[in-house]
Amino acid sequence: MKIAMFSTHDFERSFFEDAAGPGHEIRFLQSRLSPATAEKALGCKVACCFVNDQLDVETLEQLKSFGVSLIALRSAGFNHLNVRAAHTLGLTCVYVPEYSPHAVAEFAVGLILSLNRKIHTAHLRVRDLRFSLDGLVGFDLKDKTIGVIGTGRIGKVFCKIMRGFGCQVIAYDSYPDSSWAHAHGVEYRSFQETLAVADILSLHIPLNPDTHHLFNSDVFSKMKSGALLINTSRGGIIHTEDLIQALESKKLGGAGLDVYEFEGPIFFRDQPRKDIYDPVLERLLNHETVLLTGHQAFLTKEALRKIAETTVQSIEAYEKGESLEHVTVPIREGGKIETSPRRNS
Ligand code: NAD
Repeated sequence: MKIAMFSTHDFERSFFEDAAGPGHEIRFLQSRLSPATAEKALGCKVACCFVNDQLDVETLEQLKSFGVSLIALRSAGFNHLNVRAAHTLGLTCVYVPEYSPHAVAEFAVGLILSLNRKIHTAHLRVRDLRFSLDGLVGFDLKDKTIGVIGTGRIGKVFCKIMRGFGCQVIAYDSYPDSSWAHAHGVEYRSFQETLAVADILSLHIPLNPDTHHLFNSDVFSKMKSGALLINTSRGGIIHTEDLIQALESKKLGGAGLDVYEFEGPIFFRDQPRKDIYDPVLERLLNHETVLLTGHQAFLTKEALRKIAETTVQSIEAYEKGESLEHVTVPIREGGKIETSPRRNS
């Protein structure tokens, strides 16, 4: 099939070439998908898209008019796709729900270790041959309480790793999996209680209308003072300006972030510093208790291979008219965060 692959990065190209073989013609495009670039898919049946490609009504209409009938997202999250509009236009949409929950969960743990033990700061100091340990004090993870928001594929792996550190792991999920929790020594608590007692809170929920800005000044005020916040999910789950205030007031002890609310035009490429005008990002980066990476939690060889293979399998199943395993569906109803304390066993 002819595939237009938008936002192609060097790190993924060879995995797609291997997975697709000679049977498909892939047009590797560096451009980010938007209404202005959609015409680059002309003549292709498939538009293969990445996390910051723009998949709103206007772009989808354009893709359709250029002959695209399948949108293949090479990501687990599909918050950037207007699923209802795609369905209305008769576009089929597939994604990669699971490629390596380990890649993301392990990265979240890496953020915790680095943020808590200030490894990134120490590395910069030692490179300057400065060996003072002042300001580098962390805390033992053992016996600390880790709060996990979202115990899906990634959250579950994360819980298991943190149990290995000797932590008490508590969790909140709007669809709790009690038998799994029981088997793995994880205790479900209400949202409010998880906020109040966690020394470290890690987010593993999708971005959708219920979770957009879920973490705002109100929620930060209910968190344990000095807690660390870890976000490897999506930037929009956190109200970034409120986070900066919570860090400035020392309500929160630090934030380890792999995603950023306004990352769309900035992440995944190098560009001259002068071309990036983002005062919120500047304030975030100036904060000494913030560790920010550029949406790389997924970036392992195993994950890239699985993303490419799953995407090509979906495309081939579509071509043969077979039933598709990983079709995007509109956000399920009822995933709202409860506001009153409730304990799940
Ligand atoms: P998943 O669908 O397996 O799990 C999500 C969990 O969140 C589910 O258990 C669901 O019930 C729960 N949930 C949904 N809405 C909720 C709400 N309002 N309140 C509480 N719980 C809620 O997803 P996953 O594979 O674990 O991935 C989680 C997120 O991680 C993805 O949506 C994606 O945004 C992000 N992600 C980031 C990277 C990265 O590189 N940084 C890579 C992959 C995925």
